[in-house]
Amino acid sequence: MIVTRFAPSPTGLLHLGSAHAALFAWTKARAAGGRFLLRIEDIDIQRCRPEYTEAIIADLRWLGIDWDGDIRIQTEHVADYDAAISDLAGRGLAYRCWCSRADIEAHASAPHGPEGPVYPGTCRHLSAAAQSAHKGEKFAWRLDVEAALRVTGALPRDPRPFGDVVIGRKHTPGSYHLCVTHDDAVQGVTMVTRAVDLEAATAIHNLLQLLMGWPVPDYEFHKLLTNPDGSRLAKRDRAVGIRALREEGRSSAEVRAMAGFAGV
Ligand code: GLU
Repeated sequence: MIVTRFAPSPTGLLHLGSAHAALFAWTKARAAGGRFLLRIEDIDIQRCRPEYTEAIIADLRWLGIDWDGDIRIQTEHVADYDAAISDLAGRGLAYRCWCSRADIEAHASAPHGPEGPVYPGTCRHLSAAAQSAHKGEKFAWRLDVEAALRVTGALPRDPRPFGDVVIGRKHTPGSYHLCVTHDDAVQGVTMVTRAVDLEAATAIHNLLQLLMGWPVPDYEFHKLLTNPDGSRLAKRDRAVGIRALREEGRSSAEVRAMAGFAGV
């Protein structure tokens, strides 16, 4: 049975672009008699707000989108993400990193990857003495991608352009890549649907799935909705907000059509 999900981060109100993502996943599941899940990806505790979670849920209901089972809230599962990181670290596949963003950007040779400057590997092989010099300081966990590939062998999608991605952040538990793949596995998601801008990240997700023994789901990528001038829809732009359209008196059928799903 097909299981899809919508996994918004509550950093703002639902807009037409996120409604498109939700409707894409929901119609895939419903058309096939499958299950559709809702997950709130709120591990970025500095940017996510509970009031946005409430608003997203209310706007989805208003749009006529229903989900199966309980809503999964990522911040309720921090211990599980920590356990996955410990597992990888215990196998020598993850290491502690004390670098700041400025340290990485200042590194002249850092090439640019899909997510910004590629981590130059400064903390990858720090001696025990060098590590203890950082005692008490906050650190991130990074995946040692080369070491990981020695375990899995080459993959159809090459994760190396990302460099050693963060799997546990300094100030938040886990990271997007770790938590999204962990949760898709534990929730039994069989088809991951997301916008094309996240397609490249599949390389990292597949690597984590193979390392952790998690099933590799099918993937489908949908377009990103844009403004008439071609620019990306922004959460802060009221004109494309579901809440604002509703307050203007639009019906949910009209808004579904504006999000690219007329007649569903
Ligand atoms: N939580 C992610 C976001 O809001 C999307 C989850 C995913 O499909 O990867 O952008």
